[in-house]
This record gives sequence, structure tokens and C-alpha cells, in this order.
Amino acid sequence: MDLLITGATLSDGRKDIDLAARDGHWVAVGQGVAARLQAERALRPDTQIIDAAGQLLSPPFVDAHFHMDATLSLGLPRLNESGTLLEGIALWGELKPHLTQEALIERALRYCDWAVGKGLLAIRSHVDTCDPRLLAVEALLEVKRRVAPYLDLQLVAFPQDGVLRYQPARDRPDCRDTAFDLLKKALDMGVDVVGGIPHFERTMADGAASVRLLCEEAARRGLRVDMHCDETDDPMSRHIETLAFETQRLGLQGRVNGSHLTSMHSMDNYYVSKLLPLMLEAGVSAVANPLINITIQGRHDSYPKRRGMTRVPEMLAQGIPVAFGHDCVMDPWYSLGSADMLEVAQMGLHVAQMTGQQAMRQCFAAVTEQPARILGLQGYGLKVGDRADAVLLQARDPVEALRLRANRLQVVRAGRVISHSAPAQACLQLPGRPASVDWRA
Ligand SMILES: [Zn+2]
Repeated sequence: MDLLITGATLSDGRKDIDLAARDGHWVAVGQGVAARLQAERALRPDTQIIDAAGQLLSPPFVDAHFHMDATLSLGLPRLNESGTLLEGIALWGELKPHLTQEALIERALRYCDWAVGKGLLAIRSHVDTCDPRLLAVEALLEVKRRVAPYLDLQLVAFPQDGVLRYQPARDRPDCRDTAFDLLKKALDMGVDVVGGIPHFERTMADGAASVRLLCEEAARRGLRVDMHCDETDDPMSRHIETLAFETQRLGLQGRVNGSHLTSMHSMDNYYVSKLLPLMLEAGVSAVANPLINITIQGRHDSYPKRRGMTRVPEMLAQGIPVAFGHDCVMDPWYSLGSADMLEVAQMGLHVAQMTGQQAMRQCFAAVTEQPARILGLQGYGLKVGDRADAVLLQARDPVEALRLRANRLQVVRAGRVISHSAPAQACLQLPGRPASVDWRA
């Protein structure tokens, strides 16, 4: 054995579980595994042993929606004063001509370091293809290669300025490619997933046409689809309906995701009662981005101000897979964030008022199992045969992990510890009171 973790609590409530890893995979999981391996003399002197001491061991965090080409660019070339989505898109447009591949790679690698320290080992990142140079695509493909030993980076070809709306000749007059050509070039170069932004196209009809065009391209290539879809407070923005229809028409069930879907917050209830069964039937999943939705939506409202996040508990009740994404960290759209998916889940829990015990566990699953399923990750989990990836949290169960945004004590990738942190605690200097507290119940 290369690694043995003893006495862990799992997110499904099983306690006192031992897990043994060899050659990068879990080879034994259950109660009494450690004693059995000792009796069989299966442990080597150099087998690493971690005593979980009853704390929560989870498969790593997964972020189903991120923008790694923009991350850690905060303040370049200026700050977003209004805080709106549209000023963010304009600001990104101002920054693009100044981007260099070296700086992009350096920022993305730094973000991946942050992610590892937070036990976040799989990220689906959109990468902007509305650039005749495809600079960010080249840079993130290089980052994907470099981080592959410790982090799964899945890339989405994302036409930020609209696959029909964007005219590449505007940025480079001699460019003969259309925005769709650029997107296809990115896929040829190795980008994994087809993206889109139908609500940003010029008209509803163009939006629907873009969904059709992009889904057909995905079907031709056998790829997954993940579109920024209806990221607006306009209840008439209904591109999710077209996305579900095209998914079914092209046989893409289980491979298509709608990101944001914020218009659903403002839609008529009767219409949603028709829409959700259509999404279920088409096997379309959803990703909400609570930190970003709560700060960007409702900006045209006075009071009452809408929250703008999509209908998470209602979709889960329907059986639609839903994940929470981080979306942005220190970029033109959002000044905060630290690759902490427990912060994301905690915000999602509050915005959706998912405060019941079962609902809080669903919020934990929305940053672990659910996004793993949406990304199609192979060998994700803590079963025998899965890749030996895990995060040991300073908490006894998922609800406590959310409450404390628990410290990541150990982060394991393929049976090897790749990050560890000292337990969080405060030393008290109070007469008659305990010497320290760590906030666990
Ligand atoms: Zn996004």
C-alpha cells in the first residue's frame, strides 16, 4: 500500500472507514481495513498513514463553471465601477489586446495552486474564442497539460461576444475567419466542450440559431455542450427551452449543461412548470453560480430587488442534476473569491434558502458529486477502483463543513498527499476557560 487513511467519516454518513490506496487507486475501503492489512502484512515501512480521527473525508471539490483566462486579472486595465455584467464584458474587451500568453499562463497556474490548497482538483473553465489570435486558448491548453498530474482542467470553447454577433475583422481587419470558424479552430486544437452565449446574440432568433448551430457542431464531433444561457433578469429569455429541444433532437442527452439560467428566477411559474419536465426529459443539467448571480442580477431593480439565482431546489426536486460553480475570482466581474467551493456552496445555500438538513447536504453535493457527473469525470469517488483523490476536512460532516467553510487538512491526488494545512484553532487566554477552540460542535 502507498497510503492508508484510517477512521474517516464519509459524506453519506458511514463512520470509522479506512481507505487504502495502491498505484493511484483505492484498493480497499470499509471498516476494519487497517487491521486486516496489518494482519496480512500489506503495509510497507514507507506506507503513508493518516489518522482521520472521525473527520469528514470527501472526494475532491469540483468546479463546474469557471473563467481561468480572466482570473486574477483584477484591476487590469481598470476596475468595474458599476459591477454589472455588461461593464465586465466591456472591461474584458479592453484587457484582451494587452494579454500575453506568459501572463495568462502564470495567473492560471497561480489559481490552480490556490485550488489545490482548497482541495479543488477538477475545474471546467470556459475560454474565450472571440480573438483572432486565440491567445487564451493556446495558453489554457498549455496550462491544462502542465497541471494534468494534479488537477483535471476541462476547457469549454466560449464565444464571449456571441458566435453570430462577433466580427473578428473588427479586431484584425485581415482576418477572414468568422467567430464560428475561430470556435471550431479551438476545438481542433483540443478544447473539450462546445460553449455559447445565446442571450448575448443580437436577437432572440439569433440566440436560438446559435444554440442550434453549436449543438449540431457538438453532435458532429461527439462533444459535450455547456452554454452560458439566459444570464439575464428578462423572464422572456428562454434559450434553455431551445437548448433542451436541440439536445433531444440531436441525441445529446446527459451531455448538455445550461449555465446560469438566471432568467428562470423571474419567469412565470406556469411556464416553469412546463420547462422543468422538458429539461429532465432532455437530460440537460444546470449550473448556478451563486456568488456571481447574487451580485450581478437584479441590477436594474429598485426595491424589492430580485436575487436572480436560478431555481435550484425546484430543479433538484424534479431530478435535474444541479451544481454550483465559482465562475469568477478576482476578475472583471468579481473582486473576491479564493477557489473555496465551500464558500460557493454556502452562498448557494443562503440564496436558495436550502436550510433543511437534507437540502444542506445537497449543497455539499453541488460542489462535489453533481459537478463530477456534469463534467463526466471518470473514476471520481471513494469506492474501490476509483482514483485515490480525496480531501480531509476539519469537520465531522458536510453540514459542519459548510458552516465552518472547513479547513482542508489533507489533499490527496492519486494516492499521494499534495497539500496539507495545520488545523484551524484559536488559543485562548481566559481564566477558567479552555485553552483553545476550533469551532466544531
Ligand atoms: Zn461564466
